Amino acid sequence: MLFSKQRTQMVKLQIVSRGVRDERVLDAMRHVPRHLFVPQARQSDAYDDHPIPIGNGQTISQPYMVALMTELAGAGEADRVLEVGTGSGYQAAILAELAAEVITIERHVELADSARTRLEGLGYDNVTVVAGDGTLGCPEHAPYDVIIVTAGGPHVPEALKSQLAIDGRLVCPVGARDMQRLVVLQRTPGEFIETGGVGCIFVPLVGEEGWT
Ligand code: SAH
Repeated sequence: MLFSKQRTQMVKLQIVSRGVRDERVLDAMRHVPRHLFVPQARQSDAYDDHPIPIGNGQTISQPYMVALMTELAGAGEADRVLEVGTGSGYQAAILAELAAEVITIERHVELADSARTRLEGLGYDNVTVVAGDGTLGCPEHAPYDVIIVTAGGPHVPEALKSQLAIDGRLVCPVGARDMQRLVVLQRTPGEFIETGGVGCIFVPLVGEEGWT
């Protein structure tokens, strides 16, 4: 299959070597055709160890960062997942391989439209792409077992915390505009338990509960 060797190498050299061990996540990364989520001129380096521009000033995240966030989120087969920051739709496709249902929100309408077309074309019928401000979440489909934010904000948006199910997990890059750390929140009946702390660099989360 096209690029399958590159995918196998990507998982081995960039992802397993850095400590990601969840076999379901590794299988999804070996399966989803990442080269179809980048502009045609960049297909040859789609499996390299870096983000790639996708238009509108945005990027598809580095493969390792996608794998790490997906492992931290720990989505199970029966879970409903919310992703904020659809971009190319690649992270949504990985999540769709692992969970029952994925709702993904993108603030740039052009990116939302092209991601929707791409995901439909690949047969992902368990993904809903919504255009809008994801810092407000998507209350219609809440609560979510897993929430992944793939843009960096000044704090974890309150709306997202309120839409997280009890026992759910939320992963969000938090910090300055140009550098963040990955915050992981686990919701219990009475509180949010925070772990995580890996350094990362994401494009800004722009919106009501993000940057202006
Ligand atoms: N997950 C993407 C990577 C996206 S980069 C992928 O797999 O390709 C982050 C995306 O978040 C960008 O497309 C950006 O436009 C979007 N974004 C930033 N702030 C947002 C907000 N408040 N709501 C929805 N999307 C947002």
